[in-house]
Amino acid sequence: MPVQLIDPHGRTVRDLRISITDRCNFRCTYCMPHEGMQWLPRDEILSYEEIERVARVCVERYGFGSIRLTGGEPTVRAHLPVLVSRLAALGVDLSMTTNGATLGLSAADLHRAGLRRINISLDSLRPERFTTITGRDALDKVLAGIDAAVEAGFEPVKVNCVVVRGVNDDEIQDFAGFGRDKGVEVRFIEWMPLDGDGQWSSAQVVPAREILETVAARWPLAPVERGSAPAERFAYADGAGHIGVIGSVTQPFCATCDRVRLTAEGQLRNCLFAVRETDLRQVLRSGGSDDDLAAAIEAEVGRKWAGHSIGKVQFIRPARSMSQIGG
Ligand code: SAM
Ligand code: SF4
Repeated sequence: MPVQLIDPHGRTVRDLRISITDRCNFRCTYCMPHEGMQWLPRDEILSYEEIERVARVCVERYGFGSIRLTGGEPTVRAHLPVLVSRLAALGVDLSMTTNGATLGLSAADLHRAGLRRINISLDSLRPERFTTITGRDALDKVLAGIDAAVEAGFEPVKVNCVVVRGVNDDEIQDFAGFGRDKGVEVRFIEWMPLDGDGQWSSAQVVPAREILETVAARWPLAPVERGSAPAERFAYADGAGHIGVIGSVTQPFCATCDRVRLTAEGQLRNCLFAVRETDLRQVLRSGGSDDDLAAAIEAEVGRKWAGHSIGKVQFIRPARSMSQIGG
């Protein structure tokens, strides 16, 4: 029988986010350094066997119920359906966050392998602006990827949109309309201080409240119960689906945070904004047993802090950018 993994603040940790690669085929301005990243050598990245082992310990010993695959860009990793089928066999709620650019080719295979839920990131519906933000002329591919995900049977398909003042905040209603037309749930995300160039400023954060007011001015909304999910969800009063807002900066949801994150090179992080990590790769590659892995996971969870301190004097920006953590 699994035991619950409870942190020092009484929260049960049961959600694992796995960055399966640090590589990415995009270079989004709000996420990665302008000049790009130095990719890790292949042998520094956890193998699928190593990832599965960590996931198995989390599920079998501690009853983790959900695993999300992320990156970098998870779809650039070879033979992804192989990893998906191994993790799906653990019987968890398995999901993935992707930029969607190659889903046109892979959505059906991933669904067949056992992936059921998918979040696709999209920050502009305007081709030129999309290219400026991502560094790639790939809006058509991402839109085709969203269609392919819906066709393959993913349920739900969610679209993540990071809203940045002066960059795409004039598209909030366009995105809401897009979600209503396509039958996908748009989740607006506040920009967090995890970009690669240290350009983040609180003045460019568009507060969740403002985003909601902008949508509701056109399509009235009613709140939906939230649970431990980061997104505050709303239903369109006319029944045309849902939207979500993730107010990580202005309305932190740390009090209900139930997750830990594994980086591509096997560092376990107890918070997006953690400034220290636990090296699970070292345990894996030095012949450590499952008990050793479990002890390292417990120790990291035992250091989980109550919440981030963005906007306070004690806030320390983590050395990693979002592309190395995975969101
Ligand atoms: N490459 C995949 C993608 O773009 O979906 C997965 C990794 S990406 C880091 C995960 C999520 O983090 C994306 O939805 C992205 O928009 C979001 N993100 C990246 N940088 C962010 C930032 N500084 N603040 C808030 N969200 C961010
Ligand atoms: Fe790559 Fe995703 Fe970051 Fe964009 S948001 S640079 S697609 S990791």
